[in-house]
Amino acid sequence: MKSMLQRTINNIDRVVFGSKENYSFEHRFLNVASFLAASMALLGSASNLIAGLSSKLTIYTFAASLVFISTYLLFISKKWYLFSKSLFFSAIFLLLDILWYENGGVSGAILIVYLSFLVLSLLVWSGKQLIIIILLFSGNFLGLMYIEYNVPDLVIMYPSIEVRFYDIILTTFLFIITTSVIVLKTKNYYEKEKQRAILSDQLKTSFLANISHEIRTPMNSIIGFSQLLDDATDNERTEYIDNINKQGDILLKLINDIIDVAQIESDDIELEYSIIDINKLIIDLKKSFEQRIDQIGKEGLKILIDIPDSSEIIIETDVKRLSQILYNLISNAIKYTDEGAIKLGYKKDIDNIEIYVRDTGIGIPEKLQADIFHKFRKLNHNTDQKLYRGTGLGLFISNQLVKKLKGSIRVESKPNVGSTFYIKLPLNY
Ligand code: ADP
Repeated sequence: MKSMLQRTINNIDRVVFGSKENYSFEHRFLNVASFLAASMALLGSASNLIAGLSSKLTIYTFAASLVFISTYLLFISKKWYLFSKSLFFSAIFLLLDILWYENGGVSGAILIVYLSFLVLSLLVWSGKQLIIIILLFSGNFLGLMYIEYNVPDLVIMYPSIEVRFYDIILTTFLFIITTSVIVLKTKNYYEKEKQRAILSDQLKTSFLANISHEIRTPMNSIIGFSQLLDDATDNERTEYIDNINKQGDILLKLINDIIDVAQIESDDIELEYSIIDINKLIIDLKKSFEQRIDQIGKEGLKILIDIPDSSEIIIETDVKRLSQILYNLISNAIKYTDEGAIKLGYKKDIDNIEIYVRDTGIGIPEKLQADIFHKFRKLNHNTDQKLYRGTGLGLFISNQLVKKLKGSIRVESKPNVGSTFYIKLPLNY
């Protein structure tokens, strides 16, 4: 029940303020701020109207709400960011000056409102732009003070002491709430970022230790077998060359993975779309992995396929990248399964195809399932103290490539029962 409520709140939060993945902290903050400003201005103008207060104030707040709604829509659409930000701040500036004028100058709540405006500016502007805002802010503030000092009658006073009292109390209350929320959210955000940076640092260190091992092992084999070649008999030579080739392939795969990560990070992956027969791809993968299983001697493991043999199923995708993803998934399935079967198959609807790779291996605990798609993430499977080699790059690369192909990847798994990885892709890109 609680999680459903939480999910509903999260969904509303994502729809109204935008998802955390799509906006920077500062940008998302402006989405929230402009939405709240628009709602408060709308509420303010409605309550002014109902209470029969100054009609001028009602018009001003209503006009401000229109500007805030426009900036909110611009922020959400990510269009003209700097322009929207400047428009948003200019509107607040103008509103502050009107408030000062209409609500009793410094004897009203303007100083508190100015303070919240300063907090907001410090949070969302930086560098030269922040200096400009602070200068404008100070100039405007000093200007208002100067005018009020010299022409005190210019500002419109509260109709009564009670109204002034309520206005100041309410504004102070709102100020305390909003600044506390802003400070707590910011603190929370930076705390999380700090934890993330620490974790990423740890992962990088363990990746570096790991990768030097992953490079050294095949390298040592290649060097060792090459040195033995001179004195080897013909039979031995064939065996050594075979080993050198295998270790060379492992090394090449590792180098390709590292290059892929670099390309993914710099958003430099080029796709080449073509029409492919998915049944043929799966049958080819089955054949080549059956050979692999033979070579590594996992006799208790077989590969099954589950594909409709009636017709040719074609999809439009990048065959090289799709093969790479399936290769990673099947390699993992073989690596983490000692006995049983690995099954390859798919389901199709009008727009999408969902290909799956199922194994009967060691499985992945539920709470770690989301982690495995992150970079450098390797799990410690404490089964029989067996050590599984790997760099923790395969699923990260697969996940990123699937996204690039406009699809998605997910896993269902139970420890000691097995895992199924699903990749969903559009039939046409
Ligand atoms: P690695 O090179 O370590 O295999 P991957 O990114 O391919 O890196 O996988 C990340 C982690 O996910 C692995 O270390 C392993 O713990 C887990 N994993 C991936 N596939 C499977 C599977 N089929 N069964 C069990 N665990 C798996």
